Amino acid sequence: MICPNCMSADITLFHDSVWNYIGGKVYKCGHCELLFIHPMMNDEEELAFYKNYNAHVLARGVTATATALELHNASLSAARERLAIVSKFIKEGSKVLEIGSATGAFLSLLTHCETHACELNDENRSFSTQFLTGSSYPDVASVDSGGFDVICLFHVFEHIRRPQDFLGRCKELLSAAGVLIIEVPCADDPLISLYDCEAFKDFVFQPMHPMVYSETSLDYVFLNAGYRKTEVIYHQRYGLANHLAWFKNKRPGGDAYLEGLFSGWDHYKDVLRDVRKTDTIYYIAKSMN
Ligand SMILES: [Zn+2]
Repeated sequence: MICPNCMSADITLFHDSVWNYIGGKVYKCGHCELLFIHPMMNDEEELAFYKNYNAHVLARGVTATATALELHNASLSAARERLAIVSKFIKEGSKVLEIGSATGAFLSLLTHCETHACELNDENRSFSTQFLTGSSYPDVASVDSGGFDVICLFHVFEHIRRPQDFLGRCKELLSAAGVLIIEVPCADDPLISLYDCEAFKDFVFQPMHPMVYSETSLDYVFLNAGYRKTEVIYHQRYGLANHLAWFKNKRPGGDAYLEGLFSGWDHYKDVLRDVRKTDTIYYIAKSMN
């Protein structure tokens, strides 16, 4: 077996199960630090998986939303949190494409920009058009406009099995000085890298995330695709109460009592950010040519 990112043969078993995926295991590359699932789903399995995606989301205990409007309203606070982090890269009048834009919650906040959306789900894409000043597309292959100042993906890149091909396509769509912004779950999540929490690892490694990246493994994938790093931002979404709930209850969903006890302990997130062990990482890059 070789690393799908840097092709190194320095591979070790990292975790011996993948959530809801019989036979799947998680391996770590000793060279670029990538965590990856083996075997990965093939095209046919992936298609069947995403057709049944809502059932998977429900099975993971994530709050289900019945309509695009409900999903949209539930997404707005995360969208505002994202904008606060990346707003410095988005200027007045920027031409912005979000890939995997769902109902357009993030794009709806960019009232000062030209906004375009790429979203596979027909209902969500149709809902999002009310917020767009540009076009909407079902997939990145069908985008018929270029020169984007900003292309962004929030919790989408980790779903992609062929990141080199995808990043190549993004390069075609970016303007000469355009920036690509991705937000992904971080392999240095403290529940993995500090606490080695087995219950969390049983849950977090899932077939729809074939690769889990650290800054080092992102450096490899972006450099190989002809990008240079502009900035990396470590961000901790979940707080102390959530982490303690993993140890207490050994399942997702948090714990109301612990939330009450530790609601004001936000300094915990700052400490994790300072040591670069966070659940989320933003990687911002530009094309080298
Ligand atoms: Zn590697």
